[in-house]
Amino acid sequence: MIYLDHHATTPPLQAVIDAMAAVMAGTWANASSKHGPGQAASRVLAGARSVVAQALGCKPAEVVFTSGATEANHLAVRGLLAAAPAGRRRVLFSAVEHAGHLKLARDLAEAGVPVDFLPVQPDGTLDLDAATRLIRDDVAVVSLMAANNETGVLMPVAGVAALAAAAGARLHVDATQWIGKRPFRFADWGADAVSFSAHKFNGPKGVGALLLRQGVAVRPPVPGSQERGRRGGTENLPAIVGLATALEALGDLDAEAARQAMLRDRLEAAVLAELPGVHIWSRAVPRLPGVSFLRVGGLEADVVLGRLERLGFAASSGAACSSSGSEPSHVLRAMGVPHGEALGAIRLSLGRTTTDADVDALIAALPTLRSLLPTVQPAAA
Ligand code: PMP
Repeated sequence: MIYLDHHATTPPLQAVIDAMAAVMAGTWANASSKHGPGQAASRVLAGARSVVAQALGCKPAEVVFTSGATEANHLAVRGLLAAAPAGRRRVLFSAVEHAGHLKLARDLAEAGVPVDFLPVQPDGTLDLDAATRLIRDDVAVVSLMAANNETGVLMPVAGVAALAAAAGARLHVDATQWIGKRPFRFADWGADAVSFSAHKFNGPKGVGALLLRQGVAVRPPVPGSQERGRRGGTENLPAIVGLATALEALGDLDAEAARQAMLRDRLEAAVLAELPGVHIWSRAVPRLPGVSFLRVGGLEADVVLGRLERLGFAASSGAACSSSGSEPSHVLRAMGVPHGEALGAIRLSLGRTTTDADVDALIAALPTLRSLLPTVQPAAA
């Protein structure tokens, strides 16, 4: 099976698996324990924290380890909101945030918090004029992703950071699809909080972090003594070491991005040439290098994905967490794509383990795929 769903998750590196196994076997003590084994675990934790800080341009004390991006997103939004001054209650989310994060938006709204959504334009980019109008001095938190998990569209973090700073609002950035793919330094981003997940860059699942700017107050939704009181619960040391190992192994991100963009562009050109009525969303705007979000004529995604799987390719219809339902992508709906067209969405996402041969194999399979697809019926006269 050729795996083309790297935005859902990525295979862990062997170095990550080895590092995690070594910690599980040898450093299993609780890092909060005062005895020797506990102190050994505490030193391993501190070492991993330094590696993360070094790789991401922040201070070790600014790293709060969590169970992944979902929890880090919660900690940021709920924690920053709870610590905001009394006159600031409003929370803004972009309309294309990750589906799990938008559930939090709905929960907050149901609990009586004023919530607004920053709209996007038909090409998937953020509507900065609307953001300028909405980011006012009653806003506690603005939550914006760095890059969209479905279209790959890059968001104007610096512009929104300037608007948030001028309004006195906190800025949270969900950089889950950015970190590991594009260069990142926390100190340069102007964000108060940045979340990410290790399994998007060949690390383990179930671990991530919130980078929280020094001096920024949060009231954590999961309190406890660990992580300087910002996240309770015994640290998942093997996973944290796996995260640090994956970050250390990233290498030259620009070279890798150029390689993936070349493969993606080759694939898109072939798909456009070989399949009927292909439309690729957000192709003309800056986006992540390895992703292509498209539909084939008027066909539903499941039809195309089923044939692709039979031919040996694993892809998805968008975010893994929402692709089980029959509701179309909320990202496409926010871009104004009609319901029927959005039901055709297929996401092909490449990663560091994707080879030229993988892309050649898909290109070679396109004529067979075409012959397996139902004929696209022209509209009745
Ligand atoms: N945010 C974005 C942009 C994502 O792509 C994902 C993962 N699909 C998440 C958050 C959630 O990450 P996790 O499931 O690791 O908590």
